[in-house]
Amino acid sequence: MDLAGTWAVSFPLLIVDRETVKLQRDLRQIYNELRLGGLLTAYAYFLGNRAITDTYTRLLQLLQTYFSRHDLPLPPETKELQNAKTNAQNKWRQLVDDFVTSSSAVSVSYWFTHRGLLTRTNLIAQDFVYDQTNVVMVDVAYQTQAYALHWISEDDERVCPVCQRYAEGGNHGYYLLNWYMPAAFPPVHPNCRCRIEILYQN
Ligand SMILES: [Zn+2]
Repeated sequence: MDLAGTWAVSFPLLIVDRETVKLQRDLRQIYNELRLGGLLTAYAYFLGNRAITDTYTRLLQLLQTYFSRHDLPLPPETKELQNAKTNAQNKWRQLVDDFVTSSSAVSVSYWFTHRGLLTRTNLIAQDFVYDQTNVVMVDVAYQTQAYALHWISEDDERVCPVCQRYAEGGNHGYYLLNWYMPAAFPPVHPNCRCRIEILYQN
C-alpha cells in the first residue's frame, strides 16, 4: 500500500491520559463513599457520561482542524456519532454497576479486597478511556471514508505478543478500510495501551 500523500489523525495521548486520571480519581471517590455507606451510582453514571461527551467534543474539534487544513469539508454524519456515544454510555453504566456490586461484595479474592478494588478502579478507568477513544476513531474512519487505520502499540519491552502481532499485521500495522481489518480493536486485554490512528489520502 502507498503511504505517499496520506495524512494521519491521532487522538492526543495527553488527553487520553488526562481523561484516564480524571475517571480514576472520580471512581476512587465513589469507592470511598460506598465504603461509608453512600450510594453514588447515579453520580458515577454522570461522571462517565461527562467524560464521554468531553472526549467526543475534543475529537470533533480535532477532526475539524485537520479537515480544514486539507481544505476538506467535515462529513455531516461526524457531527452526530450518536450510536458510538450511546454505546459508550451503556458500556460505562455496565462497568459502574459491576464495580458497585463487587465493591459491596464480601469475598476472599484479591480483586475484592480494599487494595484489589482500588487497583481495579485504575484499570477500569484506563481501559474504558482507551476503549471509547479507539471505538470512536474506527467509527469516524468509516464515516469519513478514510483510507486506512494504523494500529500503534507502545514501543517498549512490556508490549505483549498479541498487541505486537496486531501492530505488525495487515500491511506493517496499516489496515486498508473495507479491505482487510484486524480481527479486534484495542484494548484487546486489560491494561492494553494500543491506539488507532486514521489515515486519509489527499
Ligand atoms: Zn495493546
